[in-house]
Amino acid sequence: MVPEIISLGEALVEIMRQEVGVGFDRPDFFVGPFPSGAPAIFADCAARLGAKVGFIGTVGNDDFGKVIFDRLEKDGVDLRYCYIDPHLTTGVAFVAYFKDGSRKFIYHIGNAASGVIEEERIKEDYFEGVSFLHINGSALSMNEVWRKAIYRAVSLARERGVKISLDPNLRPEILGVDKVRDICRPVVEAASFVFPSGEEAMMLTGKTTPDEACRFLVESGVEYVVLKRGDKGSTVYMKGRSFEVPAFKVDEVDPTGAGDCFDAAFLVGMLRGFDLEKCARFANAVGALAVTRKGPMEGAPFFEDAMSFMERS
Ligand code: ATP
Ligand code: MG
Repeated sequence: MVPEIISLGEALVEIMRQEVGVGFDRPDFFVGPFPSGAPAIFADCAARLGAKVGFIGTVGNDDFGKVIFDRLEKDGVDLRYCYIDPHLTTGVAFVAYFKDGSRKFIYHIGNAASGVIEEERIKEDYFEGVSFLHINGSALSMNEVWRKAIYRAVSLARERGVKISLDPNLRPEILGVDKVRDICRPVVEAASFVFPSGEEAMMLTGKTTPDEACRFLVESGVEYVVLKRGDKGSTVYMKGRSFEVPAFKVDEVDPTGAGDCFDAAFLVGMLRGFDLEKCARFANAVGALAVTRKGPMEGAPFFEDAMSFMERS
């Protein structure tokens, strides 16, 4: 199988507090493990939407790794360069939700199997005939090893005419804004698509509003900047034009993963030859469905379900 889309980066399991408002500072109940990791959520959703998808990442030789591997395999993701590390344990993120919508995380990611990638798994041939390479800022900022691997992938992909897509997914609390901006710069410069939230767009550019920030990204050469605005929908920016697309109305159960599913849907829409408005509407529909289930990829819809939801709503 030649993938149409390749995604690479951390795969992990998420274990979440059962009740909203319970932090990590005392014993209480958790639910999980749910398969997760932004690049893996993206890959799984794109595959469910019918694209041929390759995922490059690492899990441990344990049951958490099996949860991730089994899920991606079941949805048809090509895992030939997704390895099971014999020595390290699978990455884990603990998540607690609060009433104001904020989240708290404890990560075991960078020093776990999820933090490992060998250069020989970024194979030149693998990018031959691929349409999109999707990069996630979370993997870029994880460690030096992943950063190098991603820069290599971007350069191999570009030489072969593969379009680069970036979800900044920034975690400035770990590295600081300036460092994060430096790390992202080579990918932004190569990107045809950037899928930021408002905060991320401002952080990437140093501009003071999301609108200014997205326009600036387009002026600096990004073909399409698609601003994600949660339950307000999204805005597409391109040279000389921008337009808003309203959100679909749903009951939000768990917002994690919506952004990654949105990115996947937008690119799948492009692959299927949808016009830009339809790509954005489709992505909004898939993002909306993603938040209706507990677990980062549990709400990722299959193509037919996403289409009928979009047409019904
Ligand atoms: P994350 O990084 O946590 O995955 P994000 O900030 O990248 O999230 P969001 O803006 O939260 O992305 O969500 C992506 C898209 O999903 C939105 O642009 C919107 O189309 C859809 N979406 C998200 N939340 C809702 C909601 N509550 N109701 C309807 N649509 C939603
Ligand atoms: Mg995001």
